[in-house]
Amino acid sequence: MATTQQTSADETRTQRAQVCIAGGGPAGVMLGLLLARAGIEVVVLEKHADFFRDFRGDTVHPSTLNIIDALGLRSEFDAIPHTPLPRLDAVINGIRIHAIDLSTLPPPNRMITLMPQWDLLQLLARAGERHPSFRLRMNADVTGVIERGGRVVGVRADTPDGELVVEADLVVAADGRSSTVRPSVGLTPREYGVPSDVLWFRLPRPTEKMPDTLLWAGVGGFVITIPRPDYLQCGLLIPHGTFPQVQGEGLEAFRQRITRVVPRLTEVVGVLASLDDVKLLSVQIDRLDRWWRPGMLAIGDAAHAMSPVFGVGINYAVQDAVAAARVLAPALSRGGADALDAACAAVQRRRERPTAMMQAIQRAAHRLIASGRRGRIIDNPPTRVQRAVLRLVLPTLRPLMARLIGYGFRPERV
Ligand SMILES: Cc1cc2nc3c(=O)[nH]c(=O)nc-3n(C[C@H](O)[C@H](O)[C@H](O)COP(=O)(O)OP(=O)(O)OC[C@H]3O[C@@H](n4cnc5c(N)ncnc54)[C@H](O)[C@@H]3O)c2cc1C
Repeated sequence: MATTQQTSADETRTQRAQVCIAGGGPAGVMLGLLLARAGIEVVVLEKHADFFRDFRGDTVHPSTLNIIDALGLRSEFDAIPHTPLPRLDAVINGIRIHAIDLSTLPPPNRMITLMPQWDLLQLLARAGERHPSFRLRMNADVTGVIERGGRVVGVRADTPDGELVVEADLVVAADGRSSTVRPSVGLTPREYGVPSDVLWFRLPRPTEKMPDTLLWAGVGGFVITIPRPDYLQCGLLIPHGTFPQVQGEGLEAFRQRITRVVPRLTEVVGVLASLDDVKLLSVQIDRLDRWWRPGMLAIGDAAHAMSPVFGVGINYAVQDAVAAARVLAPALSRGGADALDAACAAVQRRRERPTAMMQAIQRAAHRLIASGRRGRIIDNPPTRVQRAVLRLVLPTLRPLMARLIGYGFRPERV
């Protein structure tokens, strides 16, 4: 069990663990759980008081579902309200396309599941807490690392009870795209400029049931509609930096922009009472050249920020955690700084290429979105060539897309 002691003079408490993870997102909580299962003493520090934030994305892909199964958590997962989506539709210029058919994947997980991310994180945290060597500390905002002799040996965190120092053999930066740990050890990611931002808002479901549709593209732009149990979580993609322009045009123009792309939302768009109901989320794609330093490893968005395109970021963060746990646990059990550093380097070698390949696809999608073609990707009615493409190419692409989105490149096993 990780130990805590009070160093009375300055009210700083010091805690010791084998691994300290900064950030309780999908990467951090999953890694904490997996290491604790392997008997490693682990402390996860999360700066917020709870997991309840609605801008994190909700998609749990087959790669993550397989891991939930392998961890024996499936019945608990199934008991939480969620929406299974065996097929992902897109509506482009009014034409519904069954773009991705996950039922072509091998059993048992032939669907994407939409589950609010706070529910998934709570499930993983509960599973972690069943292991005596797991400790999750909420309200603990990591402010920087402690270094000794050229190695990272711990972190400092602000908590409501004062400063907390966690000393550890390894610090893991799982603190997301705006990581605090990363710059404190001098790591700066390479930015791949993304020409889009997302405006994030909720709408009630229209009374007439509509098929679950993730993406709508039309002359007004691109709209994402994530079917959550009681409402639709919506996102409008806009060119980067143009939110002030949207605000200047006013609420009614915003509502019209949505309904031009998704006419079926006309009935419900009136619930947006002000543009204050709309949150600006900036989209980012970046990647570290080096994911580790002696005593420290970055995973998930802290190592490589993912765009929401294809909703793979959570799943890539989970895959990083699984790969990291598999390599780190034996190195931590054996002990020795050199072995630990070699294990960190091995994690980067394993995960860097699958990440770079997926980010390249996301960047290509953003270029297409920004090209201004929008709904004109397909004419309505489709031209003869477009009809032929839809009829002949789509069936061939469907299983490949299902595999790409469901598993990404190089899925990991527990
Ligand atoms: C608009 C938008 C929509 C998206 N939709 C999807 C989707 O539908 N599906 C999908 O798979 N991906 C989606 N993504 C991508 C996805 O959100 C990320 O790739 C994924 O959350 C990365 O997980 P992570 O654990 O690495 O980081 P995060 O989820 O960012 O978690 C980091 C955690 O660290 C905590 N933290 C930060 N700083 C500190 C600190 N100093 N001290 C302690 N804790 C700290 C944060 O509070 C957070 O809990 C979306 C991204 C965007 C921008």
